[in-house]
Amino acid sequence: MDLRHSGIKIKIGLEIHAALLTSSKLFCRCSTRWQGREPNTLTCPVCLGMPGSKPVLNEKAVEYAIRIALALNCKIARECFFSRKSYFYPDMAKNFQITQYEIPIASNGYVELDGKKIRIKRVHLEEDPARLVHVGPSVAEAKYVLIDYNRSGVPLCEIVTEPDLTSPREAREFLQRLANTLEYLDVYDSSLEGSMRVDANISIQKGSMASERVEIKNISGFKELEEALTFEAIRQANALERGEKIPRETRGYDSNARVTYSLRGKELEEEYGYIFEPDLPKLRIEKSFVERIKRSLPELPHQKMERLSKFINKELAKSIVSDKDLALAYERVIKHVDKKLAAVWLGNVLKKILNYNNLRFKDVCITHEQLVRFLKALEKGEITKHAGEQILRELIRDSSAIEKIVEMKRISDENLIKNVAVKVLEANPKAVLDYKSGKREAFEFLIGCVMRETKGRADPKKAREVLKRMLD
Ligand code: ZN
Ligand code: MN
Repeated sequence: MDLRHSGIKIKIGLEIHAALLTSSKLFCRCSTRWQGREPNTLTCPVCLGMPGSKPVLNEKAVEYAIRIALALNCKIARECFFSRKSYFYPDMAKNFQITQYEIPIASNGYVELDGKKIRIKRVHLEEDPARLVHVGPSVAEAKYVLIDYNRSGVPLCEIVTEPDLTSPREAREFLQRLANTLEYLDVYDSSLEGSMRVDANISIQKGSMASERVEIKNISGFKELEEALTFEAIRQANALERGEKIPRETRGYDSNARVTYSLRGKELEEEYGYIFEPDLPKLRIEKSFVERIKRSLPELPHQKMERLSKFINKELAKSIVSDKDLALAYERVIKHVDKKLAAVWLGNVLKKILNYNNLRFKDVCITHEQLVRFLKALEKGEITKHAGEQILRELIRDSSAIEKIVEMKRISDENLIKNVAVKVLEANPKAVLDYKSGKREAFEFLIGCVMRETKGRADPKKAREVLKRMLD
């Protein structure tokens, strides 16, 4: 089913949990860097929920949440407090999570996505539960479950949107933009395991029929979000078609099978029995504190994109801006080389190579100086486009590959090209005959051979001229 032309109206709202990059946890001084650490070694009585332990709020986490809220055009609360959200689950030693309910730290913001406003309902702080490790072939078929409290108490910033997103694709774009913004703010790192988890609410309407809101829990990944929502929209549409009712419920997403499955009937927020957290004082947020944070905000992705689009193509600007460190490199190198040339090579060629290898610019050790040297060689025509691509492909693994610029210098000497062409013609008599009988493709084939023989170094224009002269 193609959702775009199905006459289905979709409403999607997201609740995003982003792990903040503070060095210590939200209510204790344990480290937040649990990834790759021995389980249950970054804990203390507070994050283990021992009776008698008292939480102390991490000011850095408050600052980071405000940074996010300001970037999302939210109104910052003058005063807020924490509440206990009570529920029993093995990842929650205290049987309650310290979160914010009645008054969040910020609310009423928006993000502009391609000219459309996506409203942000609230932004609040809460503690991450412990990590459950399911041992067995899958979560559903786990033999037993282990608990790692290293993650317990890591500060999460929860960002809740209004149901303003109208397609799975748009939801994905929104999430990408949000993650990108958080990285520019230096409060979040998307490459860390489990750094962003999303709950997505979706309901659909078809003619006079409508579904109840269904929540899909704990999705991680942009692609997974789009897939889960697409599956769910189609499932709901088919059920409505059959005249079935879609009950309000909570579902999970299996990213291997690419299906959502029922977890439980949806509980209402009130059922969590929120109560005021008596161990933490009210949080008063001074205006001067907010002003200081406001002044320290960096240029955000959408602002950078707007600025770059004034001199390079919009798609290239978007591609460059989506990788913070690549954008930084771009801005440095264009002080020395042509802006448009650099945009094509960084935003298109290099980005494709990085994406293909599942890497980001900060994962490879290419220095700004090397990039300038590389782009200058292209600018002056010292290397061909083909050679340039080859060098970049090696450069992401080995920074000494930059020396290939010398080795792979463009061959413009006609005699050298001619020598190669003679060999190519001798080795391909059939193609030569085909060409003489008027087949254009034969010429392209022979040119391809010359380029391959010279490892892409032959000046393509000269090679064509030389070959043409020899054939005619
Ligand atoms: Zn602790
Ligand atoms: Mn939450």
